[in-house]
Amino acid sequence: MTEGNRSPRLAPYAAREALSPGRRIAEPPPTHRSEFQRDRDRVIHSTAFRRLVYKTQVFVNHEGDLYRTRLTHSLEVAQVARTVAGALWLNEYLTEAICLAHDLGHTPFGHAGQDALNACMRDYGGFEHNLQSLRVVDELEEKYADFPGLNLMFETREGILKHCSRRRAKELGELGERFLQGRQPTLEAQLANLADEIAYNSHDVDDGLRAGLLTIDELRNVSMFERAFAEARAGHPALDGRRLIHEILRRLIGYLVDDLVDESRDRLAKAAPADLEAVRASERPLIGFSGAMESEHRQLKKFLLDRLYRHPRVLRMTTKAKRTVRKLFETFADEIRLMPREFAQAAEKAQHETGDAGRLRVVTDYIAGMTDRYAILEYERLFSPGEPT
Ligand code: MG
Repeated sequence: MTEGNRSPRLAPYAAREALSPGRRIAEPPPTHRSEFQRDRDRVIHSTAFRRLVYKTQVFVNHEGDLYRTRLTHSLEVAQVARTVAGALWLNEYLTEAICLAHDLGHTPFGHAGQDALNACMRDYGGFEHNLQSLRVVDELEEKYADFPGLNLMFETREGILKHCSRRRAKELGELGERFLQGRQPTLEAQLANLADEIAYNSHDVDDGLRAGLLTIDELRNVSMFERAFAEARAGHPALDGRRLIHEILRRLIGYLVDDLVDESRDRLAKAAPADLEAVRASERPLIGFSGAMESEHRQLKKFLLDRLYRHPRVLRMTTKAKRTVRKLFETFADEIRLMPREFAQAAEKAQHETGDAGRLRVVTDYIAGMTDRYAILEYERLFSPGEPT
């Protein structure tokens, strides 16, 4: 089945399954879907995907039902990216598969969880959520009789691995080569990465306002926000509350998406890559924001860093989250039998095969797989004498 039958129009530089290195383990082609559609479907049916519903974006899951979680974040990233992919005639199915999978390796408690695990594993190879997402789809998901993981297409795996150190790249074989040779990934991967930024910057503004940690007045110091505010108010001078916020946010997303499409179209027209190979050989990414939008976007990111991610309430949560993850790690590292049997057995086996690094990696996999609420529950079961164990 060719993509021609299944996909909207594809530009010559879009990823094509017919030219793909394919899957690590060869499988018969799907009958009613393209290969990249099959990847997307495998991601949606994975256990790690369902867990994203209880994993934090910025706010811990139990803080409120209206905040983004990793699941709704991933859906928003996919939605933004598919729009752009359609406009640029890129492979929408590959784009969607990458977006839905991009956060599968995220720990509980967002970046705080990742930082804590990374510190715990400092002497044993560290922890990085992109690499963990790859580990989830390559090894940790247990679904298929014939292979571990989801056995995804090369381009999907490549898109999940947004960045990686040179040291790590050397261990990753074919997938790591682009980091060593300074080559670009597919346009679909480049796009997924920026759609991620568009989604989180705009929804973090929304969640920050909802939580009362940010105000419209202070956000008006951010030029992109002020422009959207003025435009929204111009049409509806009396508008306020949630509707005003949404009218601003939809414009923010619109500015970013429009700019991304225009600038990428320009770059593609100038570079005129004949095919994906030419995209890979290009010196700089061909999907990107214009210089002006890039600096406005940076201003918004800096604002969020100062005012939201470092807000005392968020920092208190972050500190608590790190402590929780660290205590869980230390406890399971010391006594692997406190973990569920399959993890305890895997840890014992890994200890025999590769020593401490192997044992601790299994502990890390166990913790990284936890949802926020499961991590909190495990913590209480381990450290509160009154709790059932
Ligand atoms: Mg993300």
